[in-house]
Amino acid sequence: QAPHIAPTRAEAPRKLPETLEALPSAQAKAWRPRRVLITRAAREWPLAVRVAERAAARGAEVVELKGDRITGLRGDTERETYRRAKSTLAVTVASPSAMRPQPIPPSADWRFDLATGCPAHCQYCYLAGSLSGPPVTRLFANLSEILDRLPPLAGQGTVTSRQDHRRHEGTTFEASCYTDPLAFEPLTGGLAETVEWFARRPEDMSLRFTTKFAGTSTLEAANHGGRTRARFSVNAEAVTRRFEGGTAPLQGRLDAMGRLARAGYPVGLTVAPIMPIEGWRDAYADLFHRAAAALPEAADVTAELITHRFTPGSRDVLLGWYPATALEMDEAVRAVKRNKFGGRKYVYPKALMTEMREALEAALSQAIPSTRLLYWT
Ligand code: SF4
Repeated sequence: QAPHIAPTRAEAPRKLPETLEALPSAQAKAWRPRRVLITRAAREWPLAVRVAERAAARGAEVVELKGDRITGLRGDTERETYRRAKSTLAVTVASPSAMRPQPIPPSADWRFDLATGCPAHCQYCYLAGSLSGPPVTRLFANLSEILDRLPPLAGQGTVTSRQDHRRHEGTTFEASCYTDPLAFEPLTGGLAETVEWFARRPEDMSLRFTTKFAGTSTLEAANHGGRTRARFSVNAEAVTRRFEGGTAPLQGRLDAMGRLARAGYPVGLTVAPIMPIEGWRDAYADLFHRAAAALPEAADVTAELITHRFTPGSRDVLLGWYPATALEMDEAVRAVKRNKFGGRKYVYPKALMTEMREALEAALSQAIPSTRLLYWT
């Protein structure tokens, strides 16, 4: 039995940031931004017009900015800036460099972005330290220009071509590296549009995304052609309740996965970030059994198993956003991994990693024997 890594930070009774109290995971519904900012360049795009109409109908303040700089996010304190940014949707236009797809192993061949940022409040958020400035969600209105960049990359890529069990997916494109694309789907419909665009392509290419939201009605209605793998980011129930403010409850995500599988989508479990919480073996076995119960027979399901890690930079950002967090980010109980540029990230020690890997892989294949495990990291 591996030692349980206890949270090393104070466990409460300090008050959580007000945003977390306002949006407990168990009650979170679809995101409704308080404010929508639309830049000058975005204004003419149909997606921006649609978002403005839908957001106004839901009671949001819609502001047409005079220029292309996104302003008005900073508050007097860090907490106020966080609160303002997280409740704002900025509609803008992706620049040519932002539209350039990037390789993104091991998840997919290429990454492209429909948006950057996310309105949820996960205390381990993997975007912390990756995106600079206030944590606002920036939606790109020039969707057709973004998609036009992808077909020339069909047939290129380093991930799916090397893996026999993924070859039938063609070249894979990941849409959730810097955002959760289902979070704002009720306002945009852009993910369903992207799904249908992939279904129509003559090239051998497919879309994949992962989400912690559960509003799948636009996707259920979309003509997907089996070309989109909808993955749900899930975790042990205790982790989702404790650390994932503003997301859909775990059961809601599992039910959403079941609905999309019954609508014919290939689906997936993104189990992240895996943590050795107290009773972790039972907690993750319970997760996999609940996932199995939500899925129809013969579902096409994959799994990606990702352990918790942090960098010094991401930890600083997260402690600024969530000063009372009980999330363990203690270098002393971690192993260090260095990348080729000398950057450090902190992962669990090797023996614990091996133990968790063996236990979770066994529990997964016992609960859902047909699952194809794509990777453990
Ligand atoms: Fe970050 Fe994902 Fe949580 Fe959004 S849902 S706050 S992107 S971890």
